[in-house]
Amino acid sequence: MPDPTPSANPRTLRTPADLIAAGLAPESALGALAAVGARYAVAVPPALAVLIEAPGDPLARQFVPDPAELETAPGERADPIGDDALSPIPGIVHRYPDRVLLKPTLLCPVYCRFCFRREHVGPHGGLLAEADLAAALAWIAARPAIREVILTGGDPLFLSARRLGRILRALDAMAHLETLRIHTRVPIATPGRVAAPLLGALATAKPLWLVVHANHARELAAPQRQALALLARAGVPLLGQSVLLRGVNDTAPALEALFRAMLACRVKPYYLHHLDPAPGTARFHVPVAEGRALLAALRGRLGGHGLPTYVVDIPGGFGKVPVGPDFFLPPAGVRDREGRVHGLGGPLAAAPGAG
Ligand code: SF4
Repeated sequence: MPDPTPSANPRTLRTPADLIAAGLAPESALGALAAVGARYAVAVPPALAVLIEAPGDPLARQFVPDPAELETAPGERADPIGDDALSPIPGIVHRYPDRVLLKPTLLCPVYCRFCFRREHVGPHGGLLAEADLAAALAWIAARPAIREVILTGGDPLFLSARRLGRILRALDAMAHLETLRIHTRVPIATPGRVAAPLLGALATAKPLWLVVHANHARELAAPQRQALALLARAGVPLLGQSVLLRGVNDTAPALEALFRAMLACRVKPYYLHHLDPAPGTARFHVPVAEGRALLAALRGRLGGHGLPTYVVDIPGGFGKVPVGPDFFLPPAGVRDREGRVHGLGGPLAAAPGAG
């Protein structure tokens, strides 16, 4: 049983020996975990380690490496959503005409065992080189069709506040950009970073949306709630993104608790992602049909603002699409949340006799 006191895990756990000493893995796993750690980055920061109640629980499953990561299942691929093919220069991914991803770092405060960028993120990737960052900003500045820049990575809030602030100021100065977005795990993984310097860096002139990644209600404990409250009080709109994961949040009560916890932190659940087929992640896979049924079960249990869109990022880089659930029954019927079928009436109604 892991020691639940925060002082027992004062540092980020990065090695098999750290994980064993913290009670998160058995000694017998030392060799196997070393093999996983040699291929994929490992980090469990204290703010998350303290929330793990037992090996294999929904938090341990997300963050503690597992020997199964070295087994690649059929259909899994190193670059599941085609980032590499859509990257014209280092640090940029351009998938949609009006927006672009900027990846200023490949470092994260925690390394999620199901990450779709797991072949890229980690200390070996590090920061985008200064010259590459300048080139990436110049690339954006030269494309007036781009309206939004999404900072991702890695975790952009894991940059120093000074470096992040410098990037955001540069983007703020580009007249053709309308909005900015940052995808982050920092308020969950290292909530202590959400302090005056970071809040100062986030004080952009353009609207800035922060998309916070959390997958289980227990990730939103007191320090995380405090960090999100600071962001909300600073006027940063907060959205939530989650991944549907076997053994983590694959039940209606677990998802309901997660989305309620987000709402309580002023975070609007935005996307529930179907798992991208990254190598060694098969143990997390939940079929789409099951995900649709879970979201259908939540309809009526949560207000509309508490329900995210369930999306699949089409393998190969073809973008995200919503995959339901769908309550419309062509040509003019609907199914209610209990499964009862109704006609819509009015001009949409089927002609008599129509199927
Ligand atoms: S924080 Fe995000 S980018 Fe980093 S390992 Fe987790 S899922 Fe991947």
